[in-house]
Amino acid sequence: MKQWIESLLALQKVDMRIINLHLRLKMIPSEITKLKEKKENTEASLSDAKSSMQKTGLDIKQTESAIAEINTKIEQLQQQSSLIKKNTEYQAMLSQIDTQKGKISELETTMLLLFDQDEENKEKFKEITKEFEAEKSAIAEEIDELTELSGEVKTEIQQLIDSRPPLEARVDSTVLTQYKRLLKAKKAPLAKVNSAGICSSCHLKITPQTMTETKKEAVVYCDNCSCLLYLEK
Ligand SMILES: [Zn+2]
Repeated sequence: MKQWIESLLALQKVDMRIINLHLRLKMIPSEITKLKEKKENTEASLSDAKSSMQKTGLDIKQTESAIAEINTKIEQLQQQSSLIKKNTEYQAMLSQIDTQKGKISELETTMLLLFDQDEENKEKFKEITKEFEAEKSAIAEEIDELTELSGEVKTEIQQLIDSRPPLEARVDSTVLTQYKRLLKAKKAPLAKVNSAGICSSCHLKITPQTMTETKKEAVVYCDNCSCLLYLEK
């Protein structure tokens, strides 16, 4: 294999790695954002669960005091009723007491529902808290890893860039210019040609004349995709 092909293949290996590393690097910020969003979502669920728990707790307290208030009222009515002499007034008073007792019965039913709700809320809060605690450390760890990876990738890219000049120096400047132009398309500038004359980049057949040049290892470009060609061995 002629030196220009070997040198360009070495350069291409470095450049393809640089391109892939840049792609990897580009993905890292959105990966970190997604992780942060995930944590924020769980935080919001946790906050919602806490609010529900507090609301039900408050409802329970209010219902309890409403029951206590009505009980006081019933006691007062009962005390008053013992002083009443007229039967009709007495019956009216009993009816009032019954109405109040009915209210208490309703509130007690509400109370049972609230207790169920309270239990459910506490269970949910416990569950989300557990989830949040586990997620918090896992996400922090993942973000640390991504940050570390970002640094490593940047270092490797710089090392690869630094390794380019000696490789470039071994290639003819006209060929190098063409190589760089092709590299801008983010694809490999060099393409293999198989014995049937098919270019590995565009998968089309090159002309017999180009094939002859390729066999001579002359600097030649694909008739279709303009890649620099070399023969597959
Ligand atoms: Zn081609």
